Amino acid sequence: MAESSQNILQCLILGSGPAGLSAALYAARANLKPVVLSGMDLGGQVSKTDTVDNYPGFPEGIEGPELVSLFQKQAERFGTEIVFDSATEVDLSERPFKVTTYGEEYLAESLIITTGASVRELGVPGENEFTGRGVSYCGTCDGHFFKEKDLVIVGGGDSALKEGIFLTRFAKSVTIVHRRDELRAGYYLSNKAKENPKISFVWDTVVTEIIGDKTVNSVRLKNVKTGEEEVRSIDGVFVFIGHIPNTDLFKNQLEMDEMGYLIVDEKMHTSKSGVFAAGEVGDPHFQQVVVSAGMGAAAAMEVVEFLEEES
Ligand code: NAP
Repeated sequence: MAESSQNILQCLILGSGPAGLSAALYAARANLKPVVLSGMDLGGQVSKTDTVDNYPGFPEGIEGPELVSLFQKQAERFGTEIVFDSATEVDLSERPFKVTTYGEEYLAESLIITTGASVRELGVPGENEFTGRGVSYCGTCDGHFFKEKDLVIVGGGDSALKEGIFLTRFAKSVTIVHRRDELRAGYYLSNKAKENPKISFVWDTVVTEIIGDKTVNSVRLKNVKTGEEEVRSIDGVFVFIGHIPNTDLFKNQLEMDEMGYLIVDEKMHTSKSGVFAAGEVGDPHFQQVVVSAGMGAAAAMEVVEFLEEES
């Protein structure tokens, strides 16, 4: 049970991805008795990733949920309390900061924001209507529904290719539709995707409509250079076109860039003294598990210093 609103926490962490759980580990080891509000998904995006191949220490790779579970155990071993709840309102106007959740109200002397980012939607007709009925944003979650099916993947970044390669375990074919004629993804995944016999590419093309009956049966494609349109029969659409930072709660309270990412300095300080941020919520550039974990650790070390300076 979390401390009640009468008690003032030394360190409250919003979010339980690699940044949040690493921050918790460091804060707990400094005896700050951190409380982590897990948000909707314990572990954040990693919990929906099949294999993480680039987190050091796991030479054979590790399943995303297993990595989250290890992060969690390690943070709890030193006294972290994880509460399965989400912040609904945050008041940073004075210390202690006030965080309201679905179940409780928390007061905290310091706050580490690790609320991550959510998937970006295409915003085309049919997308919302068919989400869960042929439209998906998570290969690991939904891939097994598409055995021997023909899939379209939208996007040209690492996520599109990584998930596309994963989906070939199930699908008959995977067509990657990218709005340019050059991938954004890095060398390794680009090569791996191009070598995969089940994967083909449609360049300079966007999906303008997702069409179906009970479930998706086709997509309307438009070539952005020629304007030519085509309706292509498929069974599912997976969208991997980047993320939107989860920063709505902090609007008008913390400085953000034009894309809505929190602005943090090299020591993870936000624009408000006592409020720190780590991971993808303040990192439009790297967005890697190892980077987020490092940012989380750094944020907690700064919290320790911040609180010590006051005592
Ligand atoms: P991303 O790198 O931002 O790529 C998004 C892709 O979607 C881009 O190709 C972009 O096209 C396209 N796109 C954006 N908006 C679109 C729209 N409205 N319609 C159609 N296409 C659209 O995002 P990400 O792939 O999710 O990767 C995020 C970060 O995580 C990156 O730093 C990436 O390296 C990292 N990551 C790494 C791995 C790994 O295993 N190493 C795996 C996954 C992700 P343009 O190219 O034209 O902008």
